[in-house]
Amino acid sequence: MSTADDLLDVVVVGAGFAGLYALHKFREQGLSVRVFEAAPDVGGTWYFNRYPGARCDVESVDYSYSFSDELQQEWTWSEKYAAQSEILDYLNWVADKLDLRRGITFNTRVAAGVLDETTLRWSVTTEDGQSVTARFVVMATGALSAAITPAFDGLATFGGEIFHTAHWPHQGVDFTGKRVAVIGTGSSGIQSIPIFAEQAEHLYVFQRTPNYSIPAGNTALTAEQVAEVKATYSERRRISMRSGGGSPYVGTTKLTFAVSPEERHDAFEKRWQLGGVLYSKTFPDQLTNADANDEARQFWEQKIRAVIDDPQVADLLIPDDHPIGSKRICTDSNYFQTFNRPNVTLISVRRTPIASVDETGINTSTAHVDLDAIVFATGFDALTGSLGKIDIVGRGGERLRDDWAEGPRSYLGLANDGFPNLFVITGPGAPAVLANMVLHAESHVDWIADAIGYLDDRGYAGIEATPDAVENWLAELNRRAATTLFPRANSWYLGANVPGKPRVFMLFIGGFGVYNDICAEVAAAGYQGFDLIKGP
Ligand code: FAD
Repeated sequence: MSTADDLLDVVVVGAGFAGLYALHKFREQGLSVRVFEAAPDVGGTWYFNRYPGARCDVESVDYSYSFSDELQQEWTWSEKYAAQSEILDYLNWVADKLDLRRGITFNTRVAAGVLDETTLRWSVTTEDGQSVTARFVVMATGALSAAITPAFDGLATFGGEIFHTAHWPHQGVDFTGKRVAVIGTGSSGIQSIPIFAEQAEHLYVFQRTPNYSIPAGNTALTAEQVAEVKATYSERRRISMRSGGGSPYVGTTKLTFAVSPEERHDAFEKRWQLGGVLYSKTFPDQLTNADANDEARQFWEQKIRAVIDDPQVADLLIPDDHPIGSKRICTDSNYFQTFNRPNVTLISVRRTPIASVDETGINTSTAHVDLDAIVFATGFDALTGSLGKIDIVGRGGERLRDDWAEGPRSYLGLANDGFPNLFVITGPGAPAVLANMVLHAESHVDWIADAIGYLDDRGYAGIEATPDAVENWLAELNRRAATTLFPRANSWYLGANVPGKPRVFMLFIGGFGVYNDICAEVAAAGYQGFDLIKGP
């Protein structure tokens, strides 16, 4: 623990789910901590993504902190999948209850972190010129926090209003009587389009990539359901931590073709009725065996075609270029049915690309669309975007963004050679967005807190991944990815949504439980793969 007034033990960047827990955990450990947050308040993802329809797709009772039974017992979720406002209320409640705000400097964006190699201390500077020194830096900057807006020709000349789902105005937006374009049909588009369609005079949906989406099946939680969860929370969490995706879901062990066609159909139907993302885990081989995947895809297609009136529109909405589940599967409430409405037009930008924007609307390669508003639902520079905006300078003056020029490098997704005492939470190299990210953030923060405790107890000043450990981990990520269907999709898991971004599969695909075991084994072996460094 540091003693000098001007030296912090830990600087945490970001005050979303991860940064808030990091602050609490490190503080409990007796460490001095300061959090810097670019936004005016806590919440991260749930502070910014206020678009209509925004909600989690992991069940609320699971998409919440597990570290304190008091929190679990006191908070009551109202819906199976909580809306953005409820999740933000929850995070504000946690921040107040744990007295976290005094540890956070809001409205302050971290611009740089520079390592002093002789002392192993990081000098962290903010855009407004503040500077602090810390023994450790924890990047809780968010896997999905750097929103992207495509650079269409003439966008600045548009005379109407422009919005991004990830920066939605706090006062809300009323599209009544307006001609509105939504660009993008990923998760944010799929959640918001049905609601925009109810308001707008006409909604034009510009789709590049059709996506698989499953009915969410969202419902209010009954008092009995809540009581049942609260009575069994510890077991629920234990199973989640051991599971593939961080939810208390135990799938069948039977493979797709080990059951009869009738049983297979019944299994898909049952999961369909339950709703939600777990459809892609109906059978354990759905994401490893192309034929098994196709069974799941065909069932999905038949369900979706049944709710779309115009077969030509259905043809456009049904993906034909990637296996089901190999991109993050979306969940919706009446998304596909929305295209039956007379005031909704689907425009495939694969067929008729957007050529430019002008004062009155969007020009595709074949037509002009008159508009009052454009909504970008174009997603994020995922996993590396926020980190890349910070000038992180490690050993020998090497910049993290240069080190990652060919794709992100890490050991366990947590640390990197050349950047001692710098940790990343739920970033590239970890299961990250493939898992329930709240529990994932908790397991990362716990691991980092333990590591700092280990170093402090033994008089070490630093911890640094070895180059071999990093190379082996990257090989492990690739080896595991190659056994699955994931690399077959041009997804943001590969950086494919950002022009010029290297195509590297960035996630650990072996499952959340397996990953947690690996991290625990590394720690138990005295931080195998890391150099532990004595002080200067
Ligand atoms: P974030 O919540 O992104 O917080 C990062 C914070 O860091 C932000 O507040 C940002 O302002 C700040 N920051 C970044 N750079 C800097 C800087 N240089 N200086 C200062 N501050 C900085 N995950 C799930 O597991 N289940 C879901 O159902 C789910 N639903 C989602 C729905 C939407 C619409 C989106 C966008 C994401 C969803 N996610 C979901 C992923 C979600 O991002 C994570 O679950 C979780 O909220 C991430 O928390 P975090 O603290 O790691 O990052």
